[in-house]
Amino acid sequence: MAIFKIRKISDTYLPSNIASINQVFKILRIHFPTVSEGKIKEILDQKNDPQKYKFSTNIFIAEDGKYNVKGFSILFYMPDKNFCFLDYIAVKPGRTSSGVGGAIYERIREEAQMLKSIGIFMECLPDDDKICADKSKIKQNKSRLAFYERYGARPIVGTKYETSVTPGDDCEPYLVFDDLGNDIRLSSHQAKKIIRAILERKYHDYCPEHYIKEVVASVKDDPIKLREYKYYAKDRPILKNYAIREEIALIINDKHDIHHIKEVGYIESPVRIRSILKEIEKLNAFKIKPSRGYPDKYITQVHNLKYFNYFKTVCDKLPEGKSIYPYVFPVRNVTRPPSDYSVLAGYYCIDTFTPINKSAFLAARSGVNCALTGAELLLEGYHTAYALVRPPGHHAESDVFGGFCYFNNASIAVKFLLKYGKIAILDIDYHHGNGHQQIFYDSKEVLTISIHGNPSFAYPYFTGFADEKGEGSGLNYNVNIPLKKSISGVEYIRYLKKAIKKIIEFRPEYLIVSLGLDTAKGDPTGTWSLNANDFRNNGSELGKIPFPILFVQEGGYKNRTLGINARTFFEGYLSTRVIKNN
Ligand SMILES: [Zn+2]
Repeated sequence: MAIFKIRKISDTYLPSNIASINQVFKILRIHFPTVSEGKIKEILDQKNDPQKYKFSTNIFIAEDGKYNVKGFSILFYMPDKNFCFLDYIAVKPGRTSSGVGGAIYERIREEAQMLKSIGIFMECLPDDDKICADKSKIKQNKSRLAFYERYGARPIVGTKYETSVTPGDDCEPYLVFDDLGNDIRLSSHQAKKIIRAILERKYHDYCPEHYIKEVVASVKDDPIKLREYKYYAKDRPILKNYAIREEIALIINDKHDIHHIKEVGYIESPVRIRSILKEIEKLNAFKIKPSRGYPDKYITQVHNLKYFNYFKTVCDKLPEGKSIYPYVFPVRNVTRPPSDYSVLAGYYCIDTFTPINKSAFLAARSGVNCALTGAELLLEGYHTAYALVRPPGHHAESDVFGGFCYFNNASIAVKFLLKYGKIAILDIDYHHGNGHQQIFYDSKEVLTISIHGNPSFAYPYFTGFADEKGEGSGLNYNVNIPLKKSISGVEYIRYLKKAIKKIIEFRPEYLIVSLGLDTAKGDPTGTWSLNANDFRNNGSELGKIPFPILFVQEGGYKNRTLGINARTFFEGYLSTRVIKNN
């Protein structure tokens, strides 16, 4: 099956969205040649003016890695009557679109579920050749109705919905109802209101009032009746899809433990992941998703190609069990890299405690895959994802590593998502997120906020001051909040709220949180003393943010409390989380 992802088009103004919408219209013209250009244009007006039409218009697209739209669907939601109406669903003709229609339909069912709507109504052409003069489409209509039947969705029977507006027309569509597996008995009263809303709003310029009255009056059964199962046995289990927006997608770097530097004092160790996992599993809110593979280009659009190649080659050349630590730094002449590999380490590194060894590349590389998987899952409709990775990434700049970080997992995810709109990064590790700052310093599309120990006493010492605000068009889109050596949970949360306020004002499409837990009491790399309850409170603040969030694990080295703090953080987050439709 071809690889594709499904995403909801948030607005019709972003250039990337405009390109996608044009592809949608192209598919629409192929499948529905009788739909006028005016009607097609109206879709944009509907999307942008829900008040006027009395429904919101949701456009979902399936696209491949090259941004080719493989299929789409347009779903109306009428809030006053609380139901969804599937206006269009279509896939691009061709072999590579297999599985796309089904995936899109599942996605809109999730949307309908998330809206807590009664269900989805849609029109389907009849599969009964007695009522169609033109028999050529019957086979296709049968397979379509059979498809919906798998979900329990069937035509409403016993009404005049199939009456043609223009006398003499035949082959009029059925009104099909999908109750989303909730076993809803729709009363005639409710059905009348819904049918009226569909005819008045969807067909506002087509159905005259006497026609609407006639159809509405024909609804007699109470509750209304759906056609008997025609294609599947009644007791066959009905397909149900996951309420993916409710659960948190968890992506774990399964290669992390090959990166184990067995030296006294090297605190960035495999046990960190295990302690977090052991505790957060108790919340029953995470769904483990396998990490997917991504090409190197996603890394090299953030990191310098020379650095990438150096890191890859040197790891490969090193014998098992040997680590090299950078020891010479190019203070004098940065333009001439040294040729010896171990000396070169200092050319690409900012400190003396981040070693390179044989497995570092592979571990860091698969960490990136996890972060990218998390980002892609947000595109597919997850509201929250958590890339539980090590080594961490936020100290890695475009051409240097350091602070236990080699590739900037979170920034790579940001760059990946940037095509879909503005992104905010919130770095709540104890240490300044110098990597994010450097990578997006001149961008106004990425708001970077870091709350951390003041660099006057905390690593990375040379960046993270409040006056580093971005440059060029990125000016004021980099915000550093350096805090004093000792701080209480109550004081901390004041600054956190300030940061969140800025993020909400920025209105990003997605938020990436660099989740460091080294702000905890007793962390060997920090000076603060947040406890489990403080982490819960911090989590509750983040839960109030209405945008989809990808959490990417950064620091946190006090192994005894690391897992508990992660758990209370997510407990707080889940307790206040709002999942907004747009
Ligand atoms: Zn840190």
